[in-house]
Amino acid sequence: MQDKITVIYIISDRRSGSTLLENMLSKSQEIISVGELAMLRGHIFKDGPGFFWNWTCSCGKPVLECEFWGKVLEGIYEEKTFQTKTKWPFKSTKITLASFFKPMGCKTLWKYIHTDNNHKTINILDDIYGAVSKRSSKKFIVDSSKDPMHALAVSQCKHVDAKYIWLTRDIRAIAFSKVKRAKASKSSDKGVFRTLGTTLFFKKLCATALRCLKGHDILTISYEALAANPQQELDKICSTVGLTNFTAPEYMELANDHTIGGTPGRFERRKVKEDTSWKGYYNDKPALNAFGRFIDTL
Ligand SMILES: [Zn+2]
Repeated sequence: MQDKITVIYIISDRRSGSTLLENMLSKSQEIISVGELAMLRGHIFKDGPGFFWNWTCSCGKPVLECEFWGKVLEGIYEEKTFQTKTKWPFKSTKITLASFFKPMGCKTLWKYIHTDNNHKTINILDDIYGAVSKRSSKKFIVDSSKDPMHALAVSQCKHVDAKYIWLTRDIRAIAFSKVKRAKASKSSDKGVFRTLGTTLFFKKLCATALRCLKGHDILTISYEALAANPQQELDKICSTVGLTNFTAPEYMELANDHTIGGTPGRFERRKVKEDTSWKGYYNDKPALNAFGRFIDTL
């Protein structure tokens, strides 16, 4: 069993820099990044996030017509049964209680993973990781699916040695960015105050899920540190997951990638630096700022 594939799974909320981290890691010669693998089915069926780029692979082609995914999915893709996303009841009372009251948390979370449906998804993911590694001849795969419950599913793949990176970011920045994005796409009119609450819930869920993954290598990295000292943070990741150190890129850019999902801004070449545009929003809202700063410590 020494030939297990190493999957470096990024756990994070939305708007936390997971595409940046995934893109930086893809510059290692030993790594292939698949982007947000959980969204693969949605990209094939044009369902869920992906409207901005018409659910294509990052190479611009529809997934099944892409030279990479077309080959990877040979013998795996079956229209009626294909699924890549773990199903669990987001914001349900049970999940909320499990996130905030930890003693029973793991038992509840695992119960949602061990369903017949999710077991089928786990087997498909295992097959995809195997095919990605074979086609690319790389032993390390980066999966930036982000979802903390999906992280538990990945740990159940038989041919995978899963390593986890929890990418955190100031909760005020995440809430601001989510509201801005939702307004741009007209998907929600929830304000920053309420969004701070749901962002805290998601953070707690991530923390509980990671507690359930005891025995796996887990590293917590903050977006702020990654943007300020990319080399230092990448070196930490390399030593945790067993990669040879590589030079941190100065720019975030796609280069012959076949990644699924990610931030809509990933098609532009951008210098790696912290996005601090959220700070101005809170400047004249001291109460909201103090509240956000407080819940960021929880
Ligand atoms: Zn492609």
